[in-house]
Amino acid sequence: MASALTRRSLLHAGSTLALPRALRAQALFDVDVAIIGAGSAGLGAARACMAQGKRFVVLEARGRIGGRVFTDMSLGAPYDAGAYYIHWAERNPWRDIAAELDVSLRDESALPSGEWLSFENGARVERSARRRQFAELSRRFDTDLSEVPDVSFVERVADAPDLLPGARGLARMAVGEEAERVSALDYARLWSGDDLIVPDGYGALVQRFGAQVPVRLATPVAHIRWDGQGVVVESPAGSLTARAAIVTVPVGVLSGGAIRFTPELPVVTREGLGGLAMGALTKIGLRFAGTRFGLPANSNLWDEIPGEGGVNFECWPFDRDLIVAIFGGDFARAVLAQGERAAVEIMLDRLSAMLGEEARRAFVGASVNGWATDPFSMGCYSHALPGQAGARAKLAQPVAERIWFAGEATAAGDGDFGAAMTAGGAYLAGEAAARAVKV
Ligand SMILES: Cc1cc2nc3c(=O)[nH]c(=O)nc-3n(C[C@H](O)[C@H](O)[C@H](O)COP(=O)(O)OP(=O)(O)OC[C@H]3O[C@@H](n4cnc5c(N)ncnc54)[C@H](O)[C@@H]3O)c2cc1C
Repeated sequence: MASALTRRSLLHAGSTLALPRALRAQALFDVDVAIIGAGSAGLGAARACMAQGKRFVVLEARGRIGGRVFTDMSLGAPYDAGAYYIHWAERNPWRDIAAELDVSLRDESALPSGEWLSFENGARVERSARRRQFAELSRRFDTDLSEVPDVSFVERVADAPDLLPGARGLARMAVGEEAERVSALDYARLWSGDDLIVPDGYGALVQRFGAQVPVRLATPVAHIRWDGQGVVVESPAGSLTARAAIVTVPVGVLSGGAIRFTPELPVVTREGLGGLAMGALTKIGLRFAGTRFGLPANSNLWDEIPGEGGVNFECWPFDRDLIVAIFGGDFARAVLAQGERAAVEIMLDRLSAMLGEEARRAFVGASVNGWATDPFSMGCYSHALPGQAGARAKLAQPVAERIWFAGEATAAGDGDFGAAMTAGGAYLAGEAAARAVKV
């Protein structure tokens, strides 16, 4: 027969169309919503689907949930290898979730503060000049949006060269990236407020919350088709159909092409992705035994090697026998490129230069969390490139009312939405996408 569309089949189609909407979706698709990724955004989307009675599935590439919110337990004491602060806690959904789950939170400023010491090439230096510049840096990077142009951090301080080292440090430690590649306007849009911490681990909180959500682990999505009705989502576990997909994988993963789209994504989405990039903030946990080098809990050692890069060593957080090395930008990429063993050696060399050879003798073990080399994150979090502050809003535009990109990368826009780069923002973006899907 030339056409399958006989009067009978039309009648049949008509009877399907007469079904209630929920049943119709059931008849056409395996689920209403396929959520790709079980980080903060994916879990936020799942929770909203649950609340609205939408049928959903969550497909996660890793063998665990939480994504870039991860409490590393491998050293025998917990530390947050990814997100640590519940930023702008007043409006952060993770604060309320912690309260629901009876997970205690602390205000970092209320913790006993240790020492803050600065070093250059391992030798003690005074950094009072840099501290004095913070107020001016803060004015240029955090204030009234109407005054902040969409230029790089470097251009933002072009008229005040003495601020350049501070701007470089801010870009590397707050964004994980080099100052030339970060939009000052995108950064200025970020909300501020109270920062809370989770003593038992932000990642542990997300794990507890996510235990209520059914997730298919170890299921990396490789292909999303949207050339027919709804979407077809393909992974090594097979394919499934959904009315819509909420794609929460990091922009580094998307830009790397790990998920193929058929047909190609629209221009506006590709422009959005092209305007965003991922920083390389890295954490290495180091465990020590037998000595604390005379440093009280919650001390910080800032070590700068000019021409290489700075590392902040957080010593004995929550009185635990750990030092967490935090560093970003091209220096982090260069360190990670040498492999994990070499990365640990570099950190031990720096600690030995500051604290003496005892640092090596007391060293017990380390764990490297190189988010920039992790195939499921490909960076720490997103930033807009200079001149591309509109990129997040472009990426957030739904594709044919069928594919929503949601995550920290879409958690800010041209209006008052300034939650990008954060776990709280990712949750809000995932939740909003799930609500927007019509079934
Ligand atoms: C070192 C570091 C420090 C940070 N500090 C803070 C902080 O103090 N406070 C804060 O709020 N935020 C912080 N962040 C940022 C925060 O962790 C992220 O913004 C947030 O967790 C992003 O959530 P998401 O759901 O958008 O993405 P993710 O958490 O990355 O979730 C995406 C999920 O998709 C999965 N995935 C990837 N590819 C595929 C695929 N092909 N198929 C299926 N699944 C896939 C990933 O495994 C992941 O689980 C930090 C991040 C880092 C790395």
